[in-house]
Formats: sequence, structure tokens, C-alpha cells
Amino acid sequence: MDDQITRREALDKLVNIITPEESLESQENDQEETLKNEENPHLQDPTTKHPKPPFNKQFQPFPGLAAKMDPVPDHGEESYVGSGRLTGRKALVTGGDSGIGRAAAIAFAREGADVAINYLPDEESDAAEVIDLIKKAGRNAVAIPGDLRDEAFCNRLVSEAVSQLGGLDILVNNAGHQKSNQSILDISTEDFDRTMKTNIYAPFWITKAALPHLKPGSSIIGLSSVQAYDPSADLYDYAQTKAATTSYVKSLAKQLGPKGIRVNGVAPGPVWTALEVSGGQTQEKLVEFGGDTPLGRPGQPAELASIFVQFADNTGSFATGQIYGSAGGSGQP
Ligand code: NAD
Ligand code: MG
Repeated sequence: MDDQITRREALDKLVNIITPEESLESQENDQEETLKNEENPHLQDPTTKHPKPPFNKQFQPFPGLAAKMDPVPDHGEESYVGSGRLTGRKALVTGGDSGIGRAAAIAFAREGADVAINYLPDEESDAAEVIDLIKKAGRNAVAIPGDLRDEAFCNRLVSEAVSQLGGLDILVNNAGHQKSNQSILDISTEDFDRTMKTNIYAPFWITKAALPHLKPGSSIIGLSSVQAYDPSADLYDYAQTKAATTSYVKSLAKQLGPKGIRVNGVAPGPVWTALEVSGGQTQEKLVEFGGDTPLGRPGQPAELASIFVQFADNTGSFATGQIYGSAGGSGQP
């Protein structure tokens, strides 16, 4: 038959595909590549870069302190290196004392921004560390403690931030409350109210107060979650606030786009923060926290910092109404 080839022809073809020289060369290249990877400290394996479960059981009363966690989270204190991406910018970060907000505050300062942080009075010791780090970056640091469940305080927070920073062009509505409850029957009206006031009302009040100060080029960033897309059974109230956040980000982006103000959201997966050890997870879930992601571990706040910088930076100017995820391989978006 015409399409049949002889053994000889087949062998010749094979030899043409892989000559001994070529295969030797490719082996050498592979070895060189492996060597290069071993030698290059900038190439980091994400599976081994940070602590993995099992974690020790640990509980702190709300709101918890990052400094008392075991292990202490990495917020980029030692690792984040700026390159002037936010020179002269002025940022307000709620919940900037610890966790994801602290990582954003450190990164903003090292990128050249002056930063005001808000936190609860109980978190003064965590906040003092962040204020110190912002100052060490050579930037203006402003500490404004207070409870965001109070509309009058939210208004005061914005006016103090504006007057002490000399303006405002980055707003991160990061503060949040999460409490695990096995049943809807366990959630009191007070519990429900705390979650809604902190996660939904506060960003509404703060954004309203900030808007008159935001010039074209400004950036608003909200904190959504994988919970917005695949809510856990024990996070009935929290999960709906994160779906609401995704929704407000997309609505506000449409409203403010024509004014040149961008609005985006970050949707983290499991991240090792005080919120998780102060009632956010059951002790059983905490021990295995992040173990079910493809990377086999929870994220550290430092690993999300560059997303906030990207959203705030002028170079990201076509991104608005977007939700960027960081969840170790599972979860959406
Ligand atoms: P965190 O505990 O370090 O930060 C949350 C901060 O919220 C606290 O430091 C506190 O200052 C602030 N806060 C809470 N209630 C407040 C109130 N009434 N008034 C003023 N401030 C108040 O925890 P985190 O995980 O970094 O949380 C930051 C954001 O990230 C939250 O919106 C959270 O929902 C979101 N998030 C976290 C994860 C995670 O796995 N850690 C996952 C998805 C989304
Ligand atoms: Mg805190």
C-alpha cells in the first residue's frame, strides 16, 4: 500500500527527529536550567515559600493581634521592595494595622505614598509597628483609631486623613469582620449587625465621605473574597457581605468611570491573618487552614500586596470594575 513505510524508512525518520547530539544537548540544557533555578534566589517555589498546615490550635478574642499569632504572618516587612510606583500619592487603608491591610500599607509606603491607617483601639500595638514601618520608608504616617460601625466616626476618619495627608487619592476599604457559626440559628441580630456594619455600611459611609476629595486618577479598592463565589456553610452572614462587595465594586466602577476614578476589588482565598484566629474559623479548620489549595498552604498577606499597588498605580489605568483573585489555585475569580 502507498501509505505504508518500510522499517528502514521509519528508523531513518526517528533518527532525524532525535540525533544523539541533539538529545545530549537538550539533556545538558535541562541540567543547566535546574542549576540556574537552584542558583537564582529570585526564583521561589510557591509551595515551599511559606508555612504549611498543620498549624497549632490558637484562639484570640476579637479583633486579635498579628504579633501574637503562631507563626506571625508575613506582611512584607522584610521582603517588599518599592520602585516609586506611587510617588506622591496619598492613601487611606482601613484595617491597616494587620493582615492584608498592613501588607498594602507597607507596600504603598515603600512605593512612595503617604499612608493613613484606621484600626480598632485594641489593636494599637499592631498599628504602632505599621506606623513605624511607614515612617522608616520615609513617608508621612497617620494613625486614626476608631470603630467603623459608627457613621460619624467614618466621616471624621476621612476628614482627618485628608487634612493630615494633605489630600487623598487611594482608598482601601479593607477592614472586615468574620465569625464562623455552624447554624443560622446561632447568629444573633447583634452578630449579624456587626458583620453588616463593618463590611457593608462602613465602605458605603467612607466612600461617600471620600468622593468629594478624589480627583481623576484616584483609585478605590474593596475587599471581596472567594466567599463571594462559593460561600461556606458556616459563613452565612460574612459570605453575603463579600458578594455585596463584588457588586458594589462593579456598580461604582460604572458610576465613577466617567469621572476618571477607578474602583476594583481583591478576592483572597485563605490568608493567614488575625481575623482567622479570632473567631473567623473553627479550631478544626484552622489547623488545616489552606491545606486544600493546590499550593497546599494558606497565603501570607505579603503575597497580595502587589495587587493593591497594581490597582492604585497609573500603569493599571484600564482596570476598573475588576476583581483580582489570589487564592492558591482554588476558588474564584
Ligand atoms: P485582619 O484581622 O488582620 O484585618 C481586619 C481588620 O479589620 C482588623 O485589623 C481591624 O482593624 C478591622 N476591623 C474589624 N472590625 C472593625 C471595626 N468595627 N472598626 C474598625 N476596624 C475594624 O484580617 P484580614 O484577613 O487581613 O482582613 C482584611 C480583609 O480581607 C477583610 O475585609 C476580610 O474579609 C478580607 N479577606 C480575608 C481573607 C483571609 O483569608 N484572611 C480572605 C478573603 C477576604
Ligand atoms: Mg488587626
